[in-house]
Amino acid sequence: MNSYSLIVIGGGPAGLFCAARVAAAGKTVLLLEKMPGCGKKLLITGAGQCNFTHEGEISSFLDKYGGNGKFLRPCLMEFSNSDLIGFFAERGLPAASDESGKVFPASRKAGDVLSLLLSECRNHGVEIRSREPVRDAEVVDTGYQVRTDHGVFRSAALAIATGGSSYPGTGSTGDGYAFAKKLGHTITPPAPALAPVYGKDYQFSSLAGISFPAASFSQFRNGKKLRQSSGDLLFTHTGLSGPGILHLSRYLEPGDVLKISFIPGTDPVHLKKRLTEWISENGTRPVKSFLTENSLPSRFAAMLLELSGIPSGQTGAHLQKSSRDCLVATIAGYPFPVSRLAGFDEAMVTRGGVALSEIHPRTMESRIIPQLYCIGEVLDIDGDTGGYNLQAAFSTAMAAGRDIASR
Ligand SMILES: Cc1cc2nc3c(=O)[nH]c(=O)nc-3n(C[C@H](O)[C@H](O)[C@H](O)COP(=O)(O)OP(=O)(O)OC[C@H]3O[C@@H](n4cnc5c(N)ncnc54)[C@H](O)[C@@H]3O)c2cc1C
Repeated sequence: MNSYSLIVIGGGPAGLFCAARVAAAGKTVLLLEKMPGCGKKLLITGAGQCNFTHEGEISSFLDKYGGNGKFLRPCLMEFSNSDLIGFFAERGLPAASDESGKVFPASRKAGDVLSLLLSECRNHGVEIRSREPVRDAEVVDTGYQVRTDHGVFRSAALAIATGGSSYPGTGSTGDGYAFAKKLGHTITPPAPALAPVYGKDYQFSSLAGISFPAASFSQFRNGKKLRQSSGDLLFTHTGLSGPGILHLSRYLEPGDVLKISFIPGTDPVHLKKRLTEWISENGTRPVKSFLTENSLPSRFAAMLLELSGIPSGQTGAHLQKSSRDCLVATIAGYPFPVSRLAGFDEAMVTRGGVALSEIHPRTMESRIIPQLYCIGEVLDIDGDTGGYNLQAAFSTAMAAGRDIASR
């Protein structure tokens, strides 16, 4: 029976990075990947361009992971965004940022990131076996024993890098939760995160593709306001998406009501004042001009008038007070009753996973069994959009890799 220093289950970014790091230290490493090739999800990140981290001080990352950023502090500090950018650049893959601070490979090709990770593994002698789903992992007296359909493998250390449950077609079907649970770990119930949001009687199908920079959202539950946030909003054919909604989806439940303001930094009181002033100076102009001058797309402006019961050519001077109030409420407090959140098929990441209280934050080693490591999205970590999830996958993988290599 073949025996290794380390077996890694899962060939996503976390698994590949950890495997290469440990093999670079001269250890024998086997990586088992269930799909025909590694990194299927990595290839679709950032719409195929791979937004692998974000600009800025690494300390600013900590509040991008809901309540779990604190756990990540040591590994993010030890292997930060600039370390990750440097790692790729030193190997011939420079980075470039967009105007919002998202960092991509300058080539804008996720395939280049995957190729680099695979060649790191190859150069350091990692044995990669694909089409090799792990069926079982158990503790034996010498360490770990892992079973696939084709064989049984043993190792001193085991890294679970199977990802979460979202986009299951990429191979991430939550298998790691079962392995970790069997080995004694608690699993915080997994749920879809960074997910589009659906509402009853959705009115914006015909406006799919229109987006609103810095829209603001007030979240209400049972009539009580719970949260105020802002971010880009995108109408899809069937619901709401865009970074602002994806971030907020972490906190939403069916039955909540979102009140949306489509104009940045505007509340109903402020908007009513602006509209009244505009009408006093522009009484003969159509009200629609006020909307388009406030950066609302023309087709959406037409729909807002329709929703507010205002004829399309209505001038400011002829706008009744009740119609004005209705228009203001629609633009700056549009009520969107949440009927459901998208499932794992559409969610970009999974919240929940291996409970963090049972993992050493400096090394990702289990507090329950020695030399068992959990890295990447299998952990109870989900970040905002913007490169924070891949940074977490790489930083947790580096923490485990360093620890395993040092033994
Ligand atoms: C559409 C989309 C776009 C995204 N874009 C971005 C982005 O731009 N920036 C960002 O930061 N994050 C992004 N993410 C999130 C990011 O892709 C994940 O957080 C990241 O891939 C997690 O890495 P991982 O290595 O932990 O897991 P994964 O990438 O999920 O890899 C896990 C691997 O384990 C394998 N595996 C599972 N079970 C077994 C088993 N039993 N045996 C063997 N192998 C197994 C899987 O086949 C898979 O290859 C995006 C996600 C999606 C779905």
